[in-house]
Amino acid sequence: MLGRRALIVYAHPERTSFSCAMKDAAREALQRKGWEVTVSDLCAMKFNPVLSREDITGDPKDPDNFKYGSESMLAWKEGRLSQDIVEEQKKLDAADLLIFQFPIYWFGLPAILKGWCDRVLTQGYAYSSQSLYDQGHFQRKKAILSFTTGGLRSMYTPKGINGDVNILLWPLQQGILHFCGFQVLEPQICFSITHTPPEERSQILEGWKKRLNNIWEEKPITFVSNNDFDLTFPGGFVLKKEVEEANSDSKHGLTVGQHMGKPLPLDNQVKAGSTRL
Ligand code: FAD
Repeated sequence: MLGRRALIVYAHPERTSFSCAMKDAAREALQRKGWEVTVSDLCAMKFNPVLSREDITGDPKDPDNFKYGSESMLAWKEGRLSQDIVEEQKKLDAADLLIFQFPIYWFGLPAILKGWCDRVLTQGYAYSSQSLYDQGHFQRKKAILSFTTGGLRSMYTPKGINGDVNILLWPLQQGILHFCGFQVLEPQICFSITHTPPEERSQILEGWKKRLNNIWEEKPITFVSNNDFDLTFPGGFVLKKEVEEANSDSKHGLTVGQHMGKPLPLDNQVKAGSTRL
């Protein structure tokens, strides 16, 4: 994989954590295959996760009615974003593969990693109304969520007490990664890692390294194509009538989000190729 570059955005405060071991395993496995690997260790960097008008240098265009989205887009165009954001954007620009390594907090990203998304994936830089989903800015890049949970695997099933993990993944994989164009690879989930026996934890690390050997060849998760939506304001950005009709007899919805009032397609956000379109 000579010439390919990966960015691992890592969010855990402790060096002795399993998340840290997963991050180190990824760096080692990718480097062994010839990847250039950069790690943003957000906690060690004390990355500021709180967006504010201080993210922009110089005078805002409209200080009395400050709108972060439009002001930060203008600042990005004019090279006036704060240096910590610019540094992360440069790392992302250089990367073919983005890995988020984190422990799940409150069914989502740790605040520091959510803040990285809020501040680094600036409007204009990461997305625009013309560049979304499969027409998004990062459509040539691949991304993967690698995370640990406290909850057992069984708790994250359609009958489990935490609910189907596919639903938890939808806002992260569709709402952040695919929204910005990334091809999203199957998530790497370490369920209930604290209660996993040590020898099994070592096997998990080895399995992760093995997977990373051929990560670039993996097929991404399937989302519904932009072409299947009426992408106009009067059309409301909903599925085209012909797409809906073509799928009217199907037992399951198309994705977790575009379920069309039907049962969710099983493992739509966990397994590549589980969507029918
Ligand atoms: P650790 O607990 O650090 O590690 C697990 C074990 O692996 C430890 O025994 C460690 O010594 C061992 N280990 C470390 N390195 C290695 C190695 N190289 N080889 C073998 N073993 C090793 N959980 C949920 O499921 N859902 C939630 O919504 C949720 N919300 C949370 C919110 C907050 C604020 C917090 C603090 C926790 C929450 N949790 C939740 C639990 C959290 O997700 C887990 O505690 C976390 O994912 C565990 O991962 P870790 O990296 O911290 O593991």
